[in-house]
Amino acid sequence: MEKAMKKIVEVTSNPYAYVEGLKEENNKKIIGCFPMYVPEELIHAAGMIPVVIWRGNESVTWGHAHVPPYDCGITRSFVDDAVRGKLSFMDGFVFHIRQCLQAGEFPFIMERHFKPAYQKVLYLPALYAGDAIRDFAITELESFKKSLEDFTGKEITGDSLKKSIETYNENRTLLERVYELRRGKPEILKAREVMQIVWSSMLMPKEENNELLKELIAGMKKKTVETKKNSIKVIPVGCLCQTLQFDILDLIEDLGMIIPDDDLYIGSRYFANKVGLDGNPIEALADRYLTKSPLCPTKGVWDIHWGDEAIKKMKDNDAKGIISILIKYCPPHACYYPDFKSKMDKEGIHEIMIQVEHEVITLEATKTRLQSFVEIIGGV
Ligand code: SF4
Repeated sequence: MEKAMKKIVEVTSNPYAYVEGLKEENNKKIIGCFPMYVPEELIHAAGMIPVVIWRGNESVTWGHAHVPPYDCGITRSFVDDAVRGKLSFMDGFVFHIRQCLQAGEFPFIMERHFKPAYQKVLYLPALYAGDAIRDFAITELESFKKSLEDFTGKEITGDSLKKSIETYNENRTLLERVYELRRGKPEILKAREVMQIVWSSMLMPKEENNELLKELIAGMKKKTVETKKNSIKVIPVGCLCQTLQFDILDLIEDLGMIIPDDDLYIGSRYFANKVGLDGNPIEALADRYLTKSPLCPTKGVWDIHWGDEAIKKMKDNDAKGIISILIKYCPPHACYYPDFKSKMDKEGIHEIMIQVEHEVITLEATKTRLQSFVEIIGGV
C-alpha cells in the first residue's frame, strides 16, 4: 500500500513533469480535457492519452492579461499555464463550453496564444430532458469522434471504443472499491491521500492506474487501523472542477472531523456512474452524461435536487454534517448555493460553507469557522 501511495503522491506532486514524461515514454499524443464532462474514452480509443487539466499551485502572472481576476481558480491557473508555455507538451485540448461561461473563453485564448495541433469545442446539452436532448448529445459525440479520427487519421471502431469503455469502467469500479474500504475504516487514508488517488486516475493512463489501484486495494484490505472513538464524520460537498488546497482537508481532520465519503469532483463524482456496455457505445457515453449523478450545479435537471443527494450521502455514512466547499467566482455553484442552503435549513442539516480561492493567503478565518462548526455538530 505504501509503495502504491508513493507513486500516487509522486504523480500528483508534479503533474507537469509526470505528464510530459508520459508522452516521451509512450510516444503518444497527450490531449488535455478541461473538467468535468469530456468523455475521455473516445480519446483513449483514438490511441492518445487523455489527461484531465488541473489547477496549478502557482500564483497567476501572465494569465492576468487574458482572463479577469474574477474568474475561478482553475480558469486563471490553466490560462496562465498555457500562455507561459507550461503545457507545451500537450498536443491538444477539449473544452465543454456549456458548462459555464468561463469555460467558453478558452477556445479563443488557446487558438490565439497556444495554437494547439488539435482543439475540440464540445457543445453538450446543459439541460437533461427528453429524446431531442439525447439526440443532440449523440450528434455532438459523433462529431467529437470524427474530429479525433481526422486528427489521427485512424478510425475509432466500435470494438476499440468498447474496449476503452471497459478499461474506464474497471477504473471506476476500483475507485469505488477504494471508497468502500475507506468507508469501513475512514482512518485508513488521509483525506488528502484520497483526493490524490482520484487525481492520479485523471493523470495516468488508465491501464497503469488500474494496476496501481489493485495494489493499493490489496494493501488497504490487509491494513488494520485504530478507530478514533470521538471522530465526527462530515461530508465535503461541491468544489467543482478542481482540487482544493490539501491544507484545508488536513485542517478538517486536525479539528477532529473525519471524512468517510465525499461529493467532490476530484472525489466520488469523477468515477460515479459507469458507461453501459450493451448497444452503441456512443449512445452509451451520451446516456452516462445525461444520467450522471450526483447532480451538478452546471446542469439543469428540475426534478432532482442536489441537496437531496448530498443529504442521502450524509445519512448513508452516518455523518453529522456537510461542509460545502465553494470555489470563489464559480457562478454555477454560487447560483445554486442559496437553494442548497435553504434545503439544508429546511431539513435541519448542519451545514457550513467555506469559500476557497486559488491564491490562499491564510487559513485562519477558515479554521475559526470550522472550529465553531465542529463544536456545534460535536454536541449533536
Ligand atoms: S469551477 Fe465553476 S466557474 Fe470554474 S470552470 Fe468549473 S464550473 Fe466553471
